[in-house]
Amino acid sequence: METFDVIVIGAGPGGYPAAIRAAQLGKKTAIVEREYIGGTCLNVGCIPTKTLIASAECFQQVKNAKEMGVTVEKVKRDYKVMMQRKKDVVATLSGGVSQLLKANGVTLYNGSASFESSKQLAIESDEGTQRIKADKIIIATGSTSTMPGFIPKHKRIVDSRAFLDLKTLPKKLIVLGGGYIGCELACMAAMLGVKVTIVELLDDVLLLLDKDVRRVVANHMTEKLGIEIMTGTAMEKIKADAKSARGKVGKTTVSADMLLVSVGRSPVTDGLNLERAGLATNKRGFIDVDEFNRTSVAGIYAIGDINGIMMLAHAATSQAMIAADHACGAKPIANETLIPGVIFTAPEVALVGLTEAEAAEKGINIATGKYFFRGLGKALAANDTEGFVKWIADADTDQLLGAQAVGPHATDLISEACLAIRAELTAEELGNTVHAHPTFAEIWMEAAHALHGRAIHAPPVRR
Ligand code: FAD
Repeated sequence: METFDVIVIGAGPGGYPAAIRAAQLGKKTAIVEREYIGGTCLNVGCIPTKTLIASAECFQQVKNAKEMGVTVEKVKRDYKVMMQRKKDVVATLSGGVSQLLKANGVTLYNGSASFESSKQLAIESDEGTQRIKADKIIIATGSTSTMPGFIPKHKRIVDSRAFLDLKTLPKKLIVLGGGYIGCELACMAAMLGVKVTIVELLDDVLLLLDKDVRRVVANHMTEKLGIEIMTGTAMEKIKADAKSARGKVGKTTVSADMLLVSVGRSPVTDGLNLERAGLATNKRGFIDVDEFNRTSVAGIYAIGDINGIMMLAHAATSQAMIAADHACGAKPIANETLIPGVIFTAPEVALVGLTEAEAAEKGINIATGKYFFRGLGKALAANDTEGFVKWIADADTDQLLGAQAVGPHATDLISEACLAIRAELTAEELGNTVHAHPTFAEIWMEAAHALHGRAIHAPPVRR
């Protein structure tokens, strides 16, 4: 039986960086993957969605090119080509990760891992069973779409994974769930001409955002993309047959060619035999960890979606570094808690740190500074002026505590806010930082000045 210093289970954005980091630290490392290198993120999550969204945005831009003085006759979309591009992007990235694992000397086992003890795994594959051992094992088995039991199994009813694999788009689509995955896919489909209805049980879509930010996205979805949003009522009596997928929302019957179920993500522990390692899951099925991602069993770590702390790819990667460093005896740092959230709707949204609502809950005396893209030279030049950014600062110390952005390049722009909040900058310091002109990034400087009522390119606020 081969013995390693570190074994990682799962090669998603949690698992493969953990394996590479352990190998960089000189440890004999193995990684076990049963389906696809790159995990959910690279194969059926972040990357395929963003690739298709980029195609959908391109289609929209060309359709609206006349406003920019460019006339294009007969704009048509070709979903077959879009899907092929998606496959090519995924294959390029997945191949790149395989090469990185190899270049770092990580041994890859293609198969399904299960614990035989806290230090030993069995790997099942077409070639039979192999056994490997290590003192340190990092679990990174991720998550899968939740499919509630009351929803019938039918080819017209799909989860995000199946949706991203469709050969053609439906004409009419119901999206059950107004979280970020549901809203991203709803926008993508609507931009490509699909008639979309979102049904959300809670009072609003994208509830993690402050209300003013949510409104910009919801208004764009309804007014510009023609998406119908039904909130505050469950969808019941869901049925599907050869003609349609449908259900009741209150007294209304909603019907479409397809129903996309996007109501959450569940942890993947099937086949792992956690009990043989002395491990148990919590009530929600996730594996509890401490600030270094250690589980209750010495030598076993759990990172990424499987610990349920923050189910995002970059959170998984951040936890991977911390767990691998800790497992390899390198300088341990605790989990990074400042994790940005990014949502690739139309327009894009991003947030980091405290929202206004969270700050109010904590009883912090806050000051906010907002600046709108329409006041920005670069946004006007690019004909992309919807939305705003907002700083949330401690009113007593001026320290920046949170930021939200909704509008062009919001998901890229948020990195400046992450750095500023992590560096504990004040709004004054951020406002005094010279930003190149004309750029989208200038908006943070204007919003920081606005927080003190001194934005140069906005009329004074009447108090
Ligand atoms: P995963 O990526 O799920 O990887 C787990 C791996 O473990 C899989 O490859 C699986 O095959 C393997 N595995 C499981 N069990 C075993 C076993 N017993 N033996 C061997 N291998 C096993 N996040 C973002 O940050 N930004 C986004 O834009 C974004 N968009 C998303 C869009 C969609 C449609 C979806 C579904 C998710 C999106 N996410 C996004 C979330 C992101 O994909 C996850 O947070 C991320 O993939 C979690 O990484 P992970 O390594 O924990 O697990």
